[in-house]
Amino acid sequence: MSPGRYTPDPTEGITRVEDLPPPRLQYRSRDYRRRRCPWCVRASYRHHIGCRKLHDLSDLQSERPLDLVAIYSKHRCLSCGRTFSADLPNLAPPGSHYTNRVIDLAVRVVVEDGLPYRTASWHL
Ligand SMILES: [Zn+2]
Repeated sequence: MSPGRYTPDPTEGITRVEDLPPPRLQYRSRDYRRRRCPWCVRASYRHHIGCRKLHDLSDLQSERPLDLVAIYSKHRCLSCGRTFSADLPNLAPPGSHYTNRVIDLAVRVVVEDGLPYRTASWHL
């Protein structure tokens, strides 16, 4: 944390894990029956449902963490045989456990405060 700046921590003074506020859950669905194959552009039917949990920023009033549960369809292309998932482009980058909002904030903290990445992740 940068010197001279104090941000109150809502978890301060809490010593027991069970006293921590439970994260709120929100659900997002990217479940499609049919998607176009990104390689051969043929229509591909859903063959599986996937689920990803993403950590998001809570709104400032609630002081509780927010987790997003994203449901998405997985598809297998019958013409080229490849499998792909319905993407979550406005939620999170592929393979990430954090939403774009959290990543944006992390990048801003690093750029504006000049914090090294490791400190920045503690900051969050
Ligand atoms: Zn294909």
